Amino acid sequence: MKKRKHGKKPDIKIAKLWRSLRRRIKSDEHAADLIFKELMKAKLLVCTCGSTDFGRESGARNCQCVDCREEIWFTSNMFFRKAKLLRAYLAAIWFQQNDAVITPSHFAKLLRIEYSSAWEIQHKVKLVIASHLPAESMQAPYKVFIDITFRRSLESLKFTHPSFDCPGEDGGQTERENNGEQNSSEQETTEDNSTDAEKMKDFTNVEAEVYSWLTDQPVSFDTMVAKGKFSVGQIMGALGLLEIENLVTAFAYGYFARKTEQPKKRLPSNQAPAAIITQLVYCIRNYHHGVSRKYLQLFLAQIWCAIDKKRWGRNAVMKACLVHPPISRTDILAYCSPMILSLGF
Ligand SMILES: [Zn+2]
Repeated sequence: MKKRKHGKKPDIKIAKLWRSLRRRIKSDEHAADLIFKELMKAKLLVCTCGSTDFGRESGARNCQCVDCREEIWFTSNMFFRKAKLLRAYLAAIWFQQNDAVITPSHFAKLLRIEYSSAWEIQHKVKLVIASHLPAESMQAPYKVFIDITFRRSLESLKFTHPSFDCPGEDGGQTERENNGEQNSSEQETTEDNSTDAEKMKDFTNVEAEVYSWLTDQPVSFDTMVAKGKFSVGQIMGALGLLEIENLVTAFAYGYFARKTEQPKKRLPSNQAPAAIITQLVYCIRNYHHGVSRKYLQLFLAQIWCAIDKKRWGRNAVMKACLVHPPISRTDILAYCSPMILSLGF
């Protein structure tokens, strides 16, 4: 008898979860019932009069306080605000809670919704999880994930490398170019060479050279790439390492500058061991087939959620969503993973 291929397993898991979900939540109205039930169970629904006793028609998104008769729209001002496809939201939470990796296109097909809606809903759930990443968690520089960040995010620019597709890249072009010119002229007169040499002695040629391009005034990533000396990946890698070494500050829109104060020591050492990184890279490569640089952090948060069951136990994703403020599409599009990524563990 032939052994079942490993690649089939996730699909079987998704099919099983989907069957169970279809039985439990048949419509958006049904989903509203479930959300109301969860809010009541978590004691999150309280009337302005202090009452927690509500009357409600099945399927409705509002309820009425039994004591003062005030009408309450219980999905307003929370994660499910303005969510039309409540069933799809609960499905995304359900799949996440059960560690099933499902692509937006597969998710859209199952739920019979548009791809963009599926993408948006799934990213909202990921953002909720990422908002719980502990500050003291293990970290890893972006450079260790370069090989798996090839997938272009929806709004990335046509001509930028997908491993560097953060928002705002298309804005301030003239300003950036001016900045670049200014910096290349300043480069010749960079001071402090002796201390730099001391600092850079453990660095590779790429890291040393990239550092020499920087000044205390922000330099754009494009300017560095335009020098044509190193690849996008090499420059990213060097910047990631310099950031870890506390020598460089990363600004929004792909600008980098030297730290103005001389670093006394490296950043606190909570860097992830290579073995963990290898596993994460394996997970992203095999289950997501690569991700965009922009949303890498969200995928790492998703993996953390699947592995750390002490933090993300039964119904924890749903509970986190219930207390999370609303997330708009603009919030998702504005998101950009940091250069130093948190792993959650
Ligand atoms: Zn009341």
